[in-house]
Amino acid sequence: AQVTRKFFVGGNWKCNGTKQSIQELCEAFNAGKNIDSSQVEVVVAPPAPYAMLTRSILRQDFGVALQNCWVGKPGAFTGEVAAEMIKDIGLDYVILGHSERRHLPEIKENDDLVARKTKYAIDKGLTVILCVGELLEEREAGRTREVNERQLAAVKARLDPADWSKVVIAYEPVWAIGTGKVATAAQAQEAHAEIRSWLHRQVSETCASQTRILYGGSVTPENCVELATQPDVDGFLVGGASLKPTFLDIVRTHE
Ligand code: PGA
Repeated sequence: AQVTRKFFVGGNWKCNGTKQSIQELCEAFNAGKNIDSSQVEVVVAPPAPYAMLTRSILRQDFGVALQNCWVGKPGAFTGEVAAEMIKDIGLDYVILGHSERRHLPEIKENDDLVARKTKYAIDKGLTVILCVGELLEEREAGRTREVNERQLAAVKARLDPADWSKVVIAYEPVWAIGTGKVATAAQAQEAHAEIRSWLHRQVSETCASQTRILYGGSVTPENCVELATQPDVDGFLVGGASLKPTFLDIVRTHE
């Protein structure tokens, strides 16, 4: 991580929790030390029904995100949640393009849908945590870079260059998500450097130097310190380990 980019730690709670468990987790986070907001940005993403509860309980030094949103204006879109609503309840972030949404057969979001959602959410004032990453068979076929660049190119085709200041990229190799099989620091660094180089070539030097690139996939309090030594790892998107009070140890990776 570089001092010019503020470290960013996201907690993706996925489809987990109850009113009671989420209240307890928020209270445990609130009992921790204040976050030094000049050093780290921390955001948790509860399931949508618990977003207002989470926002109302958690201290203001935590941001709150949703895990997905609708691609356009509110209206006759049964079951969807619009970006406008996320802003309206006081949230500033949304996760888009998570691998579970891209790959679960019940969902199957394609690259362009993720890109259109990203543009709409940014236009409505949200910061987007944009997830990219390859499947195991794609890594084994040597296609990691190609897959990341294809997913990013779809987004570039929809964004204005200035929009990238509202994007935080999360590189999440699908084979590392929820598997306990974390990428090595060298694997993470290689992919992050390739993504940063793509940003430099395809968007701008400023975009490349300022965009945070998070690593996600089986991050724990035990493995986060080594990953964070890598120059292009600017933080983490944490799934399972964000459901425990020790998530705060990952938030404080650099202390
Ligand atoms: P994990 O999930 O930390 O449980 O592997 C990461 C993610 O899906 O964002």
